Amino acid sequence: MEYRVVIFDLDGTLVDGTESIWITLHTHFGIENHPERLKAKEMFEKGKITYQEWAERDIELMKRYGANKEELMKAISNLRLMKGAIETLNELKKRGYRLAVVSGSLNIVLEKLIPDYDGIFDYVFINRIYFDEKGKIKSLEPTKFDIMKKVGALKLICEKENITPEKCVFVGDHDNDVHIAKVCGLSIAFNASSARLESVCNLVVKEKNIRKILKYL
Ligand SMILES: [Mg+2]
Repeated sequence: MEYRVVIFDLDGTLVDGTESIWITLHTHFGIENHPERLKAKEMFEKGKITYQEWAERDIELMKRYGANKEELMKAISNLRLMKGAIETLNELKKRGYRLAVVSGSLNIVLEKLIPDYDGIFDYVFINRIYFDEKGKIKSLEPTKFDIMKKVGALKLICEKENITPEKCVFVGDHDNDVHIAKVCGLSIAFNASSARLESVCNLVVKEKNIRKILKYL
């Protein structure tokens, strides 16, 4: 087999109904144009705060606007699996691929839509939010591997598997996937809302059915 690992983005790729869980949450809590949110985004983009600080500020702001487990689950209730997602993952596993998620989404999305994700994915890199027994947000464990740093997760996977990035396939849909897509052996822009991503990927799949990637693997 030419490739060994298939790495997936989550929002917009394996999950349909959101381009980014963060946008979905901002909209749900009505803070998309909140000055504090815009300020934090700008500071992150200028390199003044870390991804961790950005994520924490976002969550703190959402908490002030009523975010708890119940509200977050409500906010993600319209999300669904991408057409063909489970069949594709199972088929790739059957073909012997190792599978990974490298995502800036939240664990609650993965847990809701793919409850047995532990048995499917060999590697999961994602933001994790934790609740107390009353459903209050207890803590946030931000991923170390979003945007530019998705490449860091790829490096870790390669070390563990003892392979080079050429043996890895990446499937994603957005701007935050550009860096990782550039270094994988095969990159597929799926259902992409990013012309930048499409321009750096080896393949572009327009049809919103993720089974369409199987013929390339
Ligand atoms: Mg995405």
